Amino acid sequence: MFKKILIANRGEIALRVLRACRELGIKTVAIHSEADETAMHVRMADESICVGPASAQSSYLNIPAIITAATLTNVDGIHPGYGFLSENQRFAEIIEEHNIKFIGPHSNHIKIMGNKIDAKKIMDENNVPTVPGLNDISDIKNIKNFIKNVKLPIIVKAASGGGGKGMRVVSKSDEIENAINSAKAEAKKSFNDDKVYLEKFLTTPKHIEIQILSDAHGNVITLGERDCSIQRKHQKLIEESPSELLSNEKRKEISDLCKKAVSSIGYEGVGTLEFLYEDDNFYFMEMNTRLQVEHPVTEMVTGIDLVKEQILAASGEKLKISQSDIQIKGHSIECRINAEHPESFIPSPGKITQYHQPGGLGVRVDSAVYQGYSVPPHYDSMIGKLITYADNRKECIARMNRALEEYIIMGINTNIQLHQKIIMSEEFKSGKYDINFMSTFN
Ligand code: ADP
Repeated sequence: MFKKILIANRGEIALRVLRACRELGIKTVAIHSEADETAMHVRMADESICVGPASAQSSYLNIPAIITAATLTNVDGIHPGYGFLSENQRFAEIIEEHNIKFIGPHSNHIKIMGNKIDAKKIMDENNVPTVPGLNDISDIKNIKNFIKNVKLPIIVKAASGGGGKGMRVVSKSDEIENAINSAKAEAKKSFNDDKVYLEKFLTTPKHIEIQILSDAHGNVITLGERDCSIQRKHQKLIEESPSELLSNEKRKEISDLCKKAVSSIGYEGVGTLEFLYEDDNFYFMEMNTRLQVEHPVTEMVTGIDLVKEQILAASGEKLKISQSDIQIKGHSIECRINAEHPESFIPSPGKITQYHQPGGLGVRVDSAVYQGYSVPPHYDSMIGKLITYADNRKECIARMNRALEEYIIMGINTNIQLHQKIIMSEEFKSGKYDINFMSTFN
């Protein structure tokens, strides 16, 4: 078992990992930038170490500084959280070379799944349904044939894509060249890889993803699904589990296929297979080889602490839970609380002058902010997650509405009221919304 873990992240997820470590009796090391000296994750860790100036590039993405910090503090594991270096194959590889355990999959699996084209190939081989696509776009004839087969609209996507970047929807055939070129340029800038591919653009799908957990001994289980269709700019805003649309049979069918696919490569740890779901059909999009922001809704409906399980699996322990232990019970919703203007989505950093977070039965707040804290302008605008749990979806929505009402954050703009408007809308209440929800919501 690990003795000391370095948490290569900040904010609520650094705190989330720290809490799991504490319950497991593992010491923690926080890293931080110069801008995060007073951050909660730094205050709560057993040790902390500054890894560079404010910009993420110079600190939370600074591999040599983080490895130096890990060596100096003598840790035996590094947890990357999500974002930053969590899906950086080179980071995982360097950690392995230093005989420290990367708390995540083998670097090779990050590489395979980090390339969406390769990931889709593995899914195809295991009969997991994928979105119809075209990988080789060097020949215009192939592109024309593809469009003839699947019909417009199509979407250009970056092979190394993430965070909604490097994507362009094409509705007219004369737009294709421009779309490819601009997606390539954005992909190059964001991921240093300009490889793009084409997919049929599904017009009214839901985004549904399957959580998996596996160990180093070949055991793989799935923990149900999350519906993450409420998105803005292709980024998730609200997630829930279970999905209103999925029958037990459908859930089992897709979960079994996911299990087979991740087993086929010997994947270890937590992971998520993301799908579009339209007309009762699943279409695999990509796999995230890390803990997801929205993992708490799964924890609430399964009662499983995913971060503890992830750490135990990374330490080489066998999974103690089997598939038959997983019972989806009740309903859970998560609202991402962002420091941003609710309409323009422009980030709103600054000092939190008043803070009061909701509580009571079935309410969970995963956040690292406090009264007097200054939200720095250098990082992601998400400052916390509000999660509610209840016996059923209707009560869960009512509880979320009540919790949002209680949530007071003054001094900066947040999307708390927007969340309230969304969850109280008839479309959200029906559960039948799709990924276009936000584009027509007012
Ligand atoms: P990223 O890794 O950048 O998050 P994803 O492949 O996960 O990219 O896609 C993000 C979102 O973009 C999806 O949840 C969906 O809203 C939209 N999207 C991606 N591919 C398609 C597609 N083929 N058809 C319709 N929407 C898509």
